[in-house]
Parts: sequence; structure tokens; C-alpha cells
Amino acid sequence: MAKRSLSPDEYLRWRKHHALYRLSHSETEKLKRWVRGYWDTIPDRENDACWLCPHSKLPSARGGRISKSVYFRTSTRGHQISFNFGIIALLVEGRLRNSHKKMIIKESWELSHLCGNWTCLNPRHFTIESGSINRSRKTCFRRYRCDHNLPCKIEKKRPLSELA
Ligand SMILES: [Zn+2]
Ligand SMILES: [Zn+2]
Repeated sequence: MAKRSLSPDEYLRWRKHHALYRLSHSETEKLKRWVRGYWDTIPDRENDACWLCPHSKLPSARGGRISKSVYFRTSTRGHQISFNFGIIALLVEGRLRNSHKKMIIKESWELSHLCGNWTCLNPRHFTIESGSINRSRKTCFRRYRCDHNLPCKIEKKRPLSELA
């Protein structure tokens, strides 16, 4: 593939595709250890509960997301792409559906928290959806009413001040 001819958008999609489909075993194992490092900080990982990331593990730049840069090499050079914790966690656990991978690549779908708590690490509270649906969930937490097909877990929402 002649990468020099790719537009910035095409190169971004190429990097996402590579990271979601073609990471080596050792690259995947490294990411697994990173994910486990977060999960290990939650002593009781109950299925239904929010697994709120401890403050000490949160990024110092509070951008409302926990993200990870993935690095990989091709024959000529190195590449970097950054994903939300939830996407990496679903990926390395083999729980990121193919249809979702495609939409992350083609339509910039993103990680969304059904519980509305951005520091929650529980994969059962993750979904992959468009940015507009993700943002529309904020209204449900405010009104305490939800019409989404995949319902918001309204009762789990905590005030932002309790998260970070
Ligand atoms: Zn949660
Ligand atoms: Zn909702």
C-alpha cells in the first residue's frame, strides 16, 4: 500500500483498521495487561455495578475519557492511533463485534457508557455508537427518562464531581 497517497482521513481509517484487525499477538498481550491493570484496581467486580476507576489511575488531563495510544510498525515506519479504554477492553477480550469495528473505522463511532459515568470500567456498561446518540444520552440522565433502543442505565448515573 502506497501510504504517501493517503489523505489524512484515509490514513486515520487505515490506522484504525490495522489496530482493530491486525495487531500482533505481543501487541495484543501488551494491551491486555494495560486493561487488566485498570480492572485489578476494582476489588469487587460485580456484574451490575459501575466499576469506577480510582482517582489515582485517572489521566491527569481530565478530558472526560481514559484513552490509550496504540503503536505498531509496518516495514517502513511506526504508526500511532488512540482509542478509549472501553474500545481497547472490548477488543482484547474478543468482545468487539465486527459490525462495530466497521462503524468505528468508517463512521467514527465511539465508545459510549450506558451508565453515563465516564470513569466506569465495566464492559457491560459499554456500547459502540455514533457520537450524536452518545451525546443524546445526556438528556436521559437529566430528565430521568429514556427512549433509547439500548436503554440508558439512568439509576447508575453519578454526579460528575464523584467521578473525578
Ligand atoms: Zn457503569
Ligand atoms: Zn437514554
